[in-house]
Amino acid sequence: MIRVLVASKIHEKGIEILRSSGIEVSRVEEPPEDELIKAIKGVHGLIVRSKPIVTKRVINAADSLLVIGRAGVGVDNIDVEAAKTRGIEVLTSPEATTQSVAELTIGLILAVARKIAFCDRRIRAGEWPKKYAMGVELSGKVLGIIGAGRIGSAVARIAKFGFNMEIVYYSRSRHIEFEEEFGAKYLPLEELLRRADVVSIHVPLTEETMHLINEEKLRLMKKNAILINTSRGAIVDTNALVKALREGWIAGAGLDVFEQEPLPSNHPLLQLDNVVLTSHIGASTEEAQERAGVDIAKKIVEFFRAKGYIK
Ligand code: NAD
Repeated sequence: MIRVLVASKIHEKGIEILRSSGIEVSRVEEPPEDELIKAIKGVHGLIVRSKPIVTKRVINAADSLLVIGRAGVGVDNIDVEAAKTRGIEVLTSPEATTQSVAELTIGLILAVARKIAFCDRRIRAGEWPKKYAMGVELSGKVLGIIGAGRIGSAVARIAKFGFNMEIVYYSRSRHIEFEEEFGAKYLPLEELLRRADVVSIHVPLTEETMHLINEEKLRLMKKNAILINTSRGAIVDTNALVKALREGWIAGAGLDVFEQEPLPSNHPLLQLDNVVLTSHIGASTEEAQERAGVDIAKKIVEFFRAKGYIK
């Protein structure tokens, strides 16, 4: 019998799809490495979300593993090279969370531009922060998208057609469809940072993109610009960002992802009023989780079916 270990919370519909295809499902929730090393023995498939971390040690400890499924997008928590070396396939459900992450990105832009979280905090503290909560409109402003893939495109769509923003972008290569759909202009990263009123990051975390936005890059941005990161924390150098926010090199930031998660309770970001923080909830919607769970379960079933292990 084929056994699949589900090591993060996925939608029940996904579990049903696995079970009704004759797969035995066992469940643990985001176990630490040593626990995962024990749980992975005798398992043919593993399903994770952005947690747990599937290290080389985990992969090498697996004795029967054939496939790892990531419910969602971004495989930086999986040692893909180690998996490849052992002939273990890695599957993802990249489309499932796109719209949810894009909508959160827009939410963060608005929350920073209109000081929504700031006002909420002050009102609860007994103040009426009307005089010092002057904001900016998005209409007519320049949105710089870094990474014109699925999420970058979904953000551009809402920003362009919902808010009449002008779109410029930087990506590994030019995306002609993106340019045509949004009237977007391709710019080198440095120029994008100099021009954009809002900069939003949508590249994956790789060796190349680690600290892509560092002190030098933050210093290129406009003093009234907003930086949004809903991609991965380590793409931005957090220490440099804290300095930029504290010293006013940029106006504000909206962050869903951090170099260290959960964000430590004494983190300097928590002292700053010009940053809005969410707890890596980009994909945390009913719709995204259902799509991700169902999609990855179907892909795992197809994988074992194609190999003739299940009917
Ligand atoms: P995608 O693969 O569709 O798009 C990524 C884009 O980045 C592509 O256009 C690619 O060409 C570009 N790119 C890659 N490396 C680059 C580099 N070194 N320099 C410049 N451009 C580069 O991915 P997507 O579906 O849009 O997702 C983007 C990222 O969003 C994921 O990798 C993930 O880290 C993150 N994400 C976050 C959440 C969340 O909960 N906050 C949820 C889902 C995804």
